[in-house]
Amino acid sequence: MLQQTGVERVKKKYVEFLELFPDIETLAGASSADVIRAWSPLGYNRRALNLKRTAELVVAEYRGQIPRDEETLKSFPGIGPYTAAAVMAFAFHEDKAPVDTNISRILRRLFGIGRDVAKREDALMAQKILPLGKASAWSQALMDLGATICLPRKPLCHECPILEYCDAAPKLIAGGDEDTAPKSSSPYVGSTRYYRGRIVEALRGVPDGSSLGVLDLGHMIRDDFTSSDLNWLQLILFGLREDGLIAIEDSGDVTLPV
Ligand code: SF4
Repeated sequence: MLQQTGVERVKKKYVEFLELFPDIETLAGASSADVIRAWSPLGYNRRALNLKRTAELVVAEYRGQIPRDEETLKSFPGIGPYTAAAVMAFAFHEDKAPVDTNISRILRRLFGIGRDVAKREDALMAQKILPLGKASAWSQALMDLGATICLPRKPLCHECPILEYCDAAPKLIAGGDEDTAPKSSSPYVGSTRYYRGRIVEALRGVPDGSSLGVLDLGHMIRDDFTSSDLNWLQLILFGLREDGLIAIEDSGDVTLPV
């Protein structure tokens, strides 16, 4: 849930989700449609299906026990280097550094790393300076520092416990621009990801056994939708179907997968 989503948005849903699916077996045995419905309003709905598929694999192949092995974790759906490192550090207390945007920002400011350095270097650097035996506390401390003091805009450098070591601090305190900040991402509203989310949200309201016509769906997700947008919509639908997030019936109507 915390992949690309802040803690404040996740907190409530995390509790609700665990009430519905309290263990790996329950999640593995649930229908895809129920899991996608329960995921609302988090977005990035593919994460919900990936979580369910991972639960299925863990139940089928690992007797319901999450394997304590980073490479095996990375072979599961939706688990990349960051999530695998987070599980290894937080759940198993192994010496792995999960580098989220907060930790990445702090390291870049601390060591004065410019934009020209690729993002993947952040994880390598974090792994190098990680205090052994303290990966969980170290990572959580940096994540908290990034969320409360080393903010993306206007960091509170005067309150920062590592001010004296920070390369970027003098410039930031003087009000200058930093050259370490990640480049801003493209707008979300109007993007394909935005409409993918709108489509899944519309289908969440459709009861099991029912479906939506493509034209109706188009009008539900876009006020200015016309028949000339059908090809555009179909392409997005095919992508969602490929990801297992929707099902397209022989009639062309659309529903959540069961
Ligand atoms: S001194 Fe400022 S820029 Fe440096 S880590 Fe602390 S809050 Fe971030």
